[in-house]
Amino acid sequence: MTGVILDGKGVAKKIETDLSQRVAKLAARTGGKKPILATILVGDDPASATYVRMKGNACERVGMQSQKVILPQETTTEQLLAEIDNLNANPDVHGILLQHPVPPQIDERACFDRISIEKDVDGVTSHGFGRMAMGERAFGSATPAGIMRLLAHYDIPIKGKHAVVVGRSPILGKPMAFMLLNEHATVTICHSRTQNLPELVKHADIIVGAVGKPEFIRGDWIKDGAVVIDAGYNPGPVGDIELSAILERCAAYTPVPGGVGPMTIATLIAQTVEAAERAA
Ligand code: NAP
Repeated sequence: MTGVILDGKGVAKKIETDLSQRVAKLAARTGGKKPILATILVGDDPASATYVRMKGNACERVGMQSQKVILPQETTTEQLLAEIDNLNANPDVHGILLQHPVPPQIDERACFDRISIEKDVDGVTSHGFGRMAMGERAFGSATPAGIMRLLAHYDIPIKGKHAVVVGRSPILGKPMAFMLLNEHATVTICHSRTQNLPELVKHADIIVGAVGKPEFIRGDWIKDGAVVIDAGYNPGPVGDIELSAILERCAAYTPVPGGVGPMTIATLIAQTVEAAERAA
């Protein structure tokens, strides 16, 4: 059995085509106004700058605008909160992306939680997370919501399956686990204090790697026929799962690159368009 490639790049392209049409329709009925995503980049981490640029480029591809806020490394929590307040109050801004991580002196959670729920298109607020976990309408955290879109696109069965999520970060592992639970998976969440990790992974029908360590999850931990989702992105580039070892015996897998990454951006943009449609 050769695993089906869950082609995030291709699916993201299709989503962008659809979004271009929605943006054009929205502009037609709002006197030419286009959805605007505000991106906030704090400090000089080159990887973060690249991610923000990629998100701005995606906005352009679908005919949206992005408003870039760039703040110095020494920015305080109060200064960042004030920027977020400005963007919350600006009716032309439909979505706010605060690029993670911010410099260590900043209270990132307080800043995420200041983003108004209507503009939380990256799905980072506690309020949005709580609503999502309760099955209420909310913008999902972009990476796990992108993974859910990808699974839906390929009709991957989730109900009743055992999903093992390795990682419990607020933007990835934790919301991923609740999204899978909402779709009736039985979910095991693993983290750095988990014991017998290989043994737990062996039971996974769906395995999600969200650890941040190159090829940390070994191929021989994964059972035949599993659906393998690798959210990791490390220099190489390789993911958090030893994908080369499972290509011939999994049911489906996300390639690295070209799997989860493009879906994250497409989801962020889609949620911004949705926010603009609601605002209009
Ligand atoms: P993170 O905040 O560093 O969280 C890593 C998680 O892995 C933590 O929950 C940690 O457990 C767990 N972990 C660390 N060592 C472990 C071990 N030995 N055994 C089991 N679990 C362990 O990272 P993140 O932001 O969630 O990102 C994870 C990966 O996804 C990274 O490769 C990142 O580049 C990638 N990512 C990709 C996208 C995308 O769009 N493609 C977006 C975001 C992130 P504790 O909680 O116990 O510390």
